[in-house]
Amino acid sequence: MVFRLTQSSVITAGLVLLFRTAGGEYDAGAKIPQSNQDTVRVLTVRCNSRESGAESIVFSDRGGKRLNTYVNSYVVFDLETTGISCENDRIVEIAAVKVIDGRVTEEFSTLVNPGMPIPYRATAVHGITDDMVADAPSFDIALKEFSEFAGDRILVGHNIHAFDMRFIRRDAQRFFSRTIGNDYIDTLPLARLYLPQLEHHTLSDLAGYYGIPADGAHRALFDCRMNRQVYERLGEEIRNPSEEARRVRRCPKCGNALKLRSGKYGGFWGCTGYPDCRYTEKKHG
Ligand SMILES: [Zn+2]
Repeated sequence: MVFRLTQSSVITAGLVLLFRTAGGEYDAGAKIPQSNQDTVRVLTVRCNSRESGAESIVFSDRGGKRLNTYVNSYVVFDLETTGISCENDRIVEIAAVKVIDGRVTEEFSTLVNPGMPIPYRATAVHGITDDMVADAPSFDIALKEFSEFAGDRILVGHNIHAFDMRFIRRDAQRFFSRTIGNDYIDTLPLARLYLPQLEHHTLSDLAGYYGIPADGAHRALFDCRMNRQVYERLGEEIRNPSEEARRVRRCPKCGNALKLRSGKYGGFWGCTGYPDCRYTEKKHG
């Protein structure tokens, strides 16, 4: 269970002690204020239920931020869907791998009944058929389970900013009238920043580059395991960036890599976060 205290909440040492006594743990970036008058930034006090061992849930009124960093504890997740439209398509599988201090501790995977026929084109990608999902839970149940699995950990995935986060936020809204509060890390923009020498940055391209086996790709759990390995390797790039990576120009608006593009009026720098970020600048010289 999570208690999210807001800006107006007053946190005292006594309150923290109360949470601890109840079996919870105080887990916040902010210091315990000296006096009762102090207010604090939004902070989370996590209270693990003693009976179930269940952790926090991720539903929140405020969406999490995208980070471009390496962290050693996270939950990498992936979705398979009926198609690419965040308006019309539904989730047919969700999987996740939990990593604590750099080590895999737990995996999660479930098929999902989308409540609509799975188009042939989608099945051709992931191999999931109507028959396979006939007895699977609907996504409100799967999302609840996923939220319990992930807790408030940072989420990691490939192309999740433009795709997976949108789907799960949409469904969190649809089923629970909340959004997903977890911060998240998208390995696609990370790869563009730290492996600029590669022409393409699909998950398979990155796995190929690092010599990670990619047979069985496009099922959610397999992709999560592959993505975890890719993210760990990207972590090494972040700690020790190559010459090429050091020269990458970053978008001043969103932090994504800028790429030289050619337009009607000549060359220009465009943000690789397009179309979310439409930042451009003229090429000088
Ligand atoms: Zn940008």
